[in-house]
Amino acid sequence: MSTLEIKDLHVEVATEDGPKAILKGVTLTIGDGETHAIMGPNGSGKSTLAYSIAGHPKYDVTGGEVLLDGVDVLSMSVDERARAGLFLAMQYPVEVPGVSVANFLRTAKTAIDGEAPKLRTWVKDVNAAMEQLKLDSTFSQRSVNEGFSGGEKKRHEIAQMELLDPKVAILDETDSGLDIDALKVVSDGVNRFRAKEGKGLLLITHYTRILRYIEPDFVHVFVDGRVAEQGGPELAERLEAEGYDRFTNASV
Ligand code: ADP
Ligand code: MG
Ligand code: MG
Repeated sequence: MSTLEIKDLHVEVATEDGPKAILKGVTLTIGDGETHAIMGPNGSGKSTLAYSIAGHPKYDVTGGEVLLDGVDVLSMSVDERARAGLFLAMQYPVEVPGVSVANFLRTAKTAIDGEAPKLRTWVKDVNAAMEQLKLDSTFSQRSVNEGFSGGEKKRHEIAQMELLDPKVAILDETDSGLDIDALKVVSDGVNRFRAKEGKGLLLITHYTRILRYIEPDFVHVFVDGRVAEQGGPELAERLEAEGYDRFTNASV
């Protein structure tokens, strides 16, 4: 079972001019096995929502709650959130020079499970994940994200998600900058994850393109730190046709 509840979330970020309110009361529940898409214009606070749930120290939660299967997430450390079953694929994955993909994955898996994975099955699982994501056999020996192409970064994020096997995954613009072949490979990986029992998915995207491959159960339109409208997959189609103008004008 996995349910992620976000209740009236208010978040500020520290800027040179002092704290700035970014999220202004976000309420949304990802039920067991559901896929939700958050769409919205640049600067509407989508990444801020993702970082806040993952526990990035720069984002100050000033109100509201986040519960994973009824347990308070906001009082947990970043590590505890990952162990509880939350995973975030960042919009801009960070480089970790000197740490190989293989070591990084094994360390993360060990930290999350509380014990090292059995070597033989683990190596098999890693190789299978790499192959499915069309990352070549030398990829595991490269430093995390160092010199990776845009597509390699995103495919590596999906490999992490599949291997770490969280309860709820948040993918922040994992589709951005991908060509059509890479988009298909990434979407296939996401759909493999979704096919497992009870996995929650929060898919943050600026474009409707990925939603043709990964059909969401619900779509939320994010404007100025709030959910401006929600609906089913048909809402994404309307956005495709109409753009965000209608929402941004209405929010002034
Ligand atoms: P989105 O992901 O929807 O494009 P973001 O969450 O990245 O939006 O940003 C929302 C707003 O918060 C923007 O105005 C952005 O400039 C501001 N913001 C986000 N993070 C920071 C930060 N670390 N420092 C200063 N401003 C930030
Ligand atoms: Mg942005
Ligand atoms: Mg963003």
